[in-house]
Amino acid sequence: MAHYDFDLFTIGAGSGGVRASRMSASFGAKVAVAEERYLGGTCVNVGCIPKKLLVYASHYGEDFDDAAEFGWTAGERRFDWAKLIANKDQEIRRLNGIYRKLLGDAGVEIVESHAAVIDPHTVTVDGKRFTAKYILVAVGSWPRVPKFPGSEYAITSNEAFCLPVLPAKIIIVGGGYIGVEFAGIFHGLGAHTTQLHRGELFLRGFDDDIRTTLAEEMRKREIDLRFKTQIATIDKVNGKLSATLTDGNMIEADQILFATGRAANTPDLGLKNAGVKLKENGAVIVDDFSKSSVDSIYAIGDCTDRMMLTPVAIAEGLAVANTLFNNKPTKPGYENVPTAVFSTPNCATVGLTEQQARRQKYHVDIYRTLFRPLRHTLTGRDERTMMKLVVDRATGRVLGCHMVGAEAGEIVQGLAVALICGATKAQFDATVGIHPTAAEEFVTMRTKAARN
Ligand SMILES: Cc1cc2nc3c(=O)[nH]c(=O)nc-3n(C[C@H](O)[C@H](O)[C@H](O)COP(=O)(O)OP(=O)(O)OC[C@H]3O[C@@H](n4cnc5c(N)ncnc54)[C@H](O)[C@@H]3O)c2cc1C
Repeated sequence: MAHYDFDLFTIGAGSGGVRASRMSASFGAKVAVAEERYLGGTCVNVGCIPKKLLVYASHYGEDFDDAAEFGWTAGERRFDWAKLIANKDQEIRRLNGIYRKLLGDAGVEIVESHAAVIDPHTVTVDGKRFTAKYILVAVGSWPRVPKFPGSEYAITSNEAFCLPVLPAKIIIVGGGYIGVEFAGIFHGLGAHTTQLHRGELFLRGFDDDIRTTLAEEMRKREIDLRFKTQIATIDKVNGKLSATLTDGNMIEADQILFATGRAANTPDLGLKNAGVKLKENGAVIVDDFSKSSVDSIYAIGDCTDRMMLTPVAIAEGLAVANTLFNNKPTKPGYENVPTAVFSTPNCATVGLTEQQARRQKYHVDIYRTLFRPLRHTLTGRDERTMMKLVVDRATGRVLGCHMVGAEAGEIVQGLAVALICGATKAQFDATVGIHPTAAEEFVTMRTKAARN
């Protein structure tokens, strides 16, 4: 039998790599993980966690305004960006330490440098070679900025988390969830914010009612949303950036943030030398068990371009550990994966959109409600919450739940369990609501909005 240094060598200690490594070690495997940048990967360092902290920060402005109508008089208001960033960095350092401890306690060897694949069983790190029965590629993704005149002045989400000062004016380019979230963050913190998207409407792939409701809510907050346009050139004049758009308009800004997509971190990884097949965009091609075209090399998470979400990378990591070292071949599931957009207000979704359900030839009943949240009956804020159920008329099964409104993610997480259980509209109706909440609307919608 061949002898290897490790049973598993993981490249990348992000969401997926850490879970796969820890679980494999817990099943008795000898595991090493290489990390070239930061323990915890994108989510902990430049993704979900710092993003959500900034989202919290951005909501205080409205909360202070609203507090007045509940009888509060607040003192002078000032926002200190440097303090927010320093506190956020401190929390991230704490989390980096937790990840180090989790891996160490599980007996996983950490190699802190860039790793590359030499052959199906060999990895090189700083000139040192390690052999492994299996190699797991969990290298994540990196923001991609298209090349155009002046594109060197653009920043990405990576830099947005550590800007030295809060920009007075910012342009966000891109209509995905990261762009939408940063538009809410910078606007909420006081920056004049423009968001550009080349398509008709942002958040492609989400239910159309989420997309249109959120656009309305963002416009009410005076975020300058512009669709069907993009940046043609950026010039720097006297320290200010000037963007010329494809529709001929010009906008000045202190920062221009591109959130126009992410590409797998696979260049410089040597995968092709080992015979691993990649998609045109650099993502690793894998089968249902996350195995690449080479039997001993697996890949999970963002670098496989399946669903770029932390819990999905974690589920894929756990599935690989079960498959390789726990005698339980496991395919991760991609149905009814709930997800939230931490926009202002939040959006969340699970299951099929109305548009997907119709494309899949379901005859659907739609239940939809749009209402002013109780809190804003006193504040007078013109904000609406939208909730929607997509129901299969033939079986009564709830195919999709969609929401725009405060705490949407917290609410839809629970509904995801119901969808996984195959809950029907009748079972939603039989569920007693918690009063007074927004969430109770999901179990009290009785009027069909449309038939088809
Ligand atoms: C701004 C932003 C906000 C996000 N918000 C959310 C959210 O709210 N909810 C959600 O579910 N998802 C969110 N995501 C997505 C989520 O962060 C990713 O899907 C998740 O981190 C992917 O995990 P991963 O293990 O595939 O990769 P990563 O977590 O990126 O880890 C990959 C690791 O590999 C390391 N690495 C790369 N190449 C090498 C090499 N050759 N040698 C050694 N190490 C290497 C990298 O340094 C990195 O640490 C967000 C992403 C961004 C950018």
